Amino acid sequence: MDWSTSINDTVFDKARMWALINGITCKGPTSTSLRHAPFLLFPSIFPANSFNKALQIQSTIGEVIHKVSRDSEFLLEVLKSTIEVDDFTRKLYEVYKIVLNEGVAQEISLGILRTDYMLNKHNSNIGVSQTTEEELKMIEINTIASSFAGLASQFPDFRRYILNITGHTNLIPQIPDNAPLKGIAEGLIAAWSLYGNPSAVILMVVEDIPNNIADQMHHEFAVKKLKPEVDFVICSLSKLHQYIKLSHSNKNLYFEGVEVSVVYYRAGYEPDHYSCDSDWESRLLIERSNAIKCPSINLHLAGTKKVQQELARPGVLERYLQDANMVKEIQETFVGIYSLDLTEEGDLAAAMAIKNPERYVLKPQREGGGNNVYGKDVASTLLKLCCLKERAAYILMELIKAPARNNVMLRPESDKPIVGPMVSELGVYGVTIGNKESIMLNRTVGHLLRSKLQGTDEGGIVAGFGALDSPLLY
Ligand code: ADP
Ligand code: MG
Ligand code: MG
Repeated sequence: MDWSTSINDTVFDKARMWALINGITCKGPTSTSLRHAPFLLFPSIFPANSFNKALQIQSTIGEVIHKVSRDSEFLLEVLKSTIEVDDFTRKLYEVYKIVLNEGVAQEISLGILRTDYMLNKHNSNIGVSQTTEEELKMIEINTIASSFAGLASQFPDFRRYILNITGHTNLIPQIPDNAPLKGIAEGLIAAWSLYGNPSAVILMVVEDIPNNIADQMHHEFAVKKLKPEVDFVICSLSKLHQYIKLSHSNKNLYFEGVEVSVVYYRAGYEPDHYSCDSDWESRLLIERSNAIKCPSINLHLAGTKKVQQELARPGVLERYLQDANMVKEIQETFVGIYSLDLTEEGDLAAAMAIKNPERYVLKPQREGGGNNVYGKDVASTLLKLCCLKERAAYILMELIKAPARNNVMLRPESDKPIVGPMVSELGVYGVTIGNKESIMLNRTVGHLLRSKLQGTDEGGIVAGFGALDSPLLY
């Protein structure tokens, strides 16, 4: 797609204003200001068959992750080597073990998941001619603080406006509808309702300086719009200990004396979010309570990269899914993903990556972007970790080579548009509510597209690399 004829300063200004006025925003430089989120001016073309497949398999992924989160033996077995060497995962795991031993107070959990994918270019030979095919490949499954549904929900209207003012009205039918915010708000309301006390509030836990405040607030506003009687309180993880209490008689959670129905974590996925022991005590206190957690500690652990690596082993998905066809559909989205435990298998994977480091990504058990190791650093890091049990803190994944499309990126910190080839990552949102026995709700609620300049390793928007985008299906 050649967009170059339809760009000029007026279009840039109007696009920035549209984003600002309609809530495609993030935190600004002062506590009372917002600025527009980085975005691509035009939608990125994306094959409809891959897009539809990602949406179709989401509810099965939701089912698998729910079941994994309830399989304490599997979680313990899989995370055993990681928790020996990774302090953060160990601390999460300790919280989990405590509540498992005491008996879980609230069996219902709420999952707001986002499964992320990229297209992978690969060559195939048909007869004498060689063609390049693009396959949908999974990057990761997020089970905590899956973000940007608030901003992504504004994109269909944004795209229709931009395509209209730039003379591309004919493309508007190729913009898919998208309303993940509404679906997530319905999930939060369903959990609140299952809790069963209409005067109990939803507690949203955020960072001290929440860069993604606009996205988070969209969630409260969407809940309020659908169900005005649901009240929200918002508190940073570091301040929680001043306000929350657990009733020892009935395990109810109170925030400043008000009962809490649902705890929705938009923080707590990074070691830095826990500045001192009291923050870990807050996490444990909440986990011990009757409140429905999004996510519960076990669902958080089910989203670790180590679990993803184990799920990709032959035969493991089959433990959680009866339908062989669904197993196949999900497995088709996996690239090679390898354990780096100090075993023969781990040694072989490390040797393979040291030989061809540019073919792999090294991933620690972290979230939020900016933590992976690429290129030559894969080899040097693995050589340093050779024979050390610390190697088990990582997993190794084949590098996905996404096709690039020309586009224009507008970032809030600069007046200058960035024009060039961009690669995209598709996210699919799913909402699950379940307990030990069953899954009561499992819905696919929408999508997200994020793009970055080709050649940039990481795609985090808040971390400063990526930009919000949306697909143009073909
Ligand atoms: P996080 O939980 O920190 O978001 P990810 O696994 O999503 O971790 O990795 C961060 C980013 O790194 C992704 O958004 C993507 O841009 C890039 N990335 C991750 N895995 C791969 C891969 N296998 N191939 C290519 N890029 C990858
Ligand atoms: Mg993640
Ligand atoms: Mg990610």
